Amino acid sequence: MYLYQHQLLPKDEVAISPDDRAYYFGDGIYEVFRVYNGVLFEPEGHYRRLEKSAREVRIPLPYGVDKLHSLLLELIGANRLQEGTVYMQISRGVAPRSHPFPQQAEPVVMAYCSEVSRTLKSMQGGIRAVTADDIRWLKCDLKTLNLLANVMAKQHALDQGADEVILHRNGTITECSASNFMMVKEGELFTHPANHLILHGITREVVLRLARQLDIRCHERAFSIEDLSSAEEAFITGTVTEITPVVTVDGKPVGRGEPGPVTRRLQQAFEQLIGIDQA
Ligand code: PLP
Repeated sequence: MYLYQHQLLPKDEVAISPDDRAYYFGDGIYEVFRVYNGVLFEPEGHYRRLEKSAREVRIPLPYGVDKLHSLLLELIGANRLQEGTVYMQISRGVAPRSHPFPQQAEPVVMAYCSEVSRTLKSMQGGIRAVTADDIRWLKCDLKTLNLLANVMAKQHALDQGADEVILHRNGTITECSASNFMMVKEGELFTHPANHLILHGITREVVLRLARQLDIRCHERAFSIEDLSSAEEAFITGTVTEITPVVTVDGKPVGRGEPGPVTRRLQQAFEQLIGIDQA
C-alpha cells in the first residue's frame, strides 16, 4: 500500500500527474526513514529536517508532524513492515510547466515502504570509494528531489569499479552521494561541519552521539583529501548504510585497508541502539 495525500491506496491507484512539479523541476522535498523491528528509527530528527527543508523551499506542509506520524504508522502497519525503509516525498504540486510558484497548487504527498535488509556484507568487509568534485548547489542541507549531481557522482564511482564516491570542493571533503563521511585520525573522529555544504544526516548525529558516549573525541571540522591519505580509518554513515567502513580511496588503502577498531566499536554501539542481539 502507498500513502497518497492522506489516503492509503494500492500502488496502481496512485495517479501522479505529468504536470507534477517534482517531475518537471525536481521541485519537492523528501525523507527516507528506517524501520527496525516494525518501529520507526529516530523519527523526530527526520521530521525536524523535513520541516526545515519545507520552510526553506517554501512548500507548505499539508499537515503537522503528529498527523504525518500517524499516517506513517498506518502505512507501516498496512504493509506489515518489520525491516526496511519508508520513502516519503512532497512536491510543490501540480500546475502547467512554468517556473514561478503556482498560485493554486496543493502539495502532493506520496510515501511507500520497502523491505530492506541490513547491508551486512559491506558493513563487515568495507567498501571502495573514489573521490570526485562536488558540483552540487550551495544548499546541500536541504533534502530536495534535485539529485542529478548525486546520481552522476554515484555512477562515476560504479563506472570505476568502486562502490561510493567521496565528494570534495577544491580538495575539502564534504560527504558522499547518499551518505556522510567520517575519518579517524590518532583515534579521534573527524567529519565535515553541519553547514550548507552537506546534508545533516540523522545517522551522522547518532554516530557523533555514540562516539561521545564512548569517549571518542569528535571534531566537526573540514578536512582535505590529503588529510584523509594519512587517516587510520574511514567510514560512511546513512539511513540505509548505517556505519559502513571505507577500506580504499582512489585505489589506495585507508590505514591497513580493513575496517578499524574505532569503526567496529561504533558499529557495535549502533547495533545495540537498534536492538540487534550480538550474542
Ligand atoms: N548525505 C546525503 C547526500 C544523503 O542523501 C544522505 C541520505 O540519503 C545522507 C547524507 C545521510 O543522511 P541520513 O543519515 O539522514 O540518512
